[in-house]
Amino acid sequence: MKFYSTNNKELQLNIKDAVIKGLASDNGLFMPEYIPQLPESFFKELDNMTFTEIAFEVLKPYFSPVVPENKLQEIIDDAFNFDIPLKHVDGNINVLELFHGPTSAFKDVGARFLARVLSWFVKDMDQEVYVLAATSGDTGGAVANGFVDVPGIKVVVLYPSGMVSDRQERQFTTLGRNISALEVKGTFDDCQRLVKTAFLDKELNDKLFLTSANSINIARLLPQVVYYFYAYAQLEDKNKDVVISVPSGNFGNLTAGLIAYKMGLPVKRFIAATNINDVVPEFLNTGEYNPRTSVQTLANAMDVGDPSNFVRVLELFNKQLEDIKDSISGYVVDDKQIRKTIKEVFDKTGYVLDPHGACGYEALKDQLNDDEQGIFLATAHPAKFPDVVEEEIGSEVDMPDTMKQFMDKPKIKSEISSEFIDFKRYLLNNDQQ
Ligand SMILES: *Cc1c(COP(=O)(O)O)cnc(C)c1O
Repeated sequence: MKFYSTNNKELQLNIKDAVIKGLASDNGLFMPEYIPQLPESFFKELDNMTFTEIAFEVLKPYFSPVVPENKLQEIIDDAFNFDIPLKHVDGNINVLELFHGPTSAFKDVGARFLARVLSWFVKDMDQEVYVLAATSGDTGGAVANGFVDVPGIKVVVLYPSGMVSDRQERQFTTLGRNISALEVKGTFDDCQRLVKTAFLDKELNDKLFLTSANSINIARLLPQVVYYFYAYAQLEDKNKDVVISVPSGNFGNLTAGLIAYKMGLPVKRFIAATNINDVVPEFLNTGEYNPRTSVQTLANAMDVGDPSNFVRVLELFNKQLEDIKDSISGYVVDDKQIRKTIKEVFDKTGYVLDPHGACGYEALKDQLNDDEQGIFLATAHPAKFPDVVEEEIGSEVDMPDTMKQFMDKPKIKSEISSEFIDFKRYLLNNDQQ
């Protein structure tokens, strides 16, 4: 299997080079040259398969033989060490809980897999690999915890001072070992600029091997395809049409669902649920695509005004708007409705939603027909957003044990300005230690 750049179908790499590079040299995103179909026998067995068994069958066509089958199985078993249960919430609505990993958000799935694959790909290099990750909150934790103790790799997380919540900051500043945290006196955009500039700096690249664990990496995307099959496997009633609602920001999660769909997952349609950053729902309604500056909302991991993965959605449908509309509808949930949904669902069912899951639930509730059954993805644990959630449900949200572990350890971090020279000096000095 080759992977091509969305900017140029002729630019093709194998999985190893696509993963190490992250982004194609023409700034395109890597896409598989074709979408493999899973055989009928797979779907016959699906209900009885474990998550890791499903993962092997789904990921094999993309990674084998560059990653030998026994190695792929080992990576899968090591990466996916937490459950992703499907639970009934209300009526014909079910939730897929993606937040039982180490940082209580779905990004753990992609980050843990990417870390292990990347580590294997670079194992024969004679120098350490630096993974640079700029974060506005959740990515830093997922990447840091995905890579902690992974041999041959050092992670540097850059985050904007004062703009990350205490619980988020703890998830990447308390690990130590091969993880360093850099508090940047600036904005998230400054952090991203520092990382991008580092990749262009000749002296730095001569001395250090730099890569990124950005969410556009194909090895973060593909493992997310797996849980769509696992969700379907857990559905009790396979006779009703299935609709899946995906709370979306950069649209990686929805892209993964659409890849599952193209591999044969028997789902009728998808809903792209967003907060008021509604570039994609607007496109689905009007055909006009107008990326713009993002605005802040309660579902802050979805505050994206120019979703990087949307180009992949277009690729999957050969850019045919009508085909896209047949398979995906959009739905927008504002902050007032996010709060209302959290409260109403808790009062009616006792189920506690986080602000992102609330968008997914509300979109599904609005668009699901009586003769269909729905699944929405819960992308983060509600304890990650205690202020909003506790106010709406009127009681405390229990922290999962994984989150408690971060709370009593000291934060270890270095502070830098937003000047590139400061960052560069940090990297060069760090390497000598
Ligand atoms: C990153 C994130 C999202 C958005 O996912 P995309 O794949 O970027 O669309 C949604 N919810 C949570 C909690 C996230 O961390």
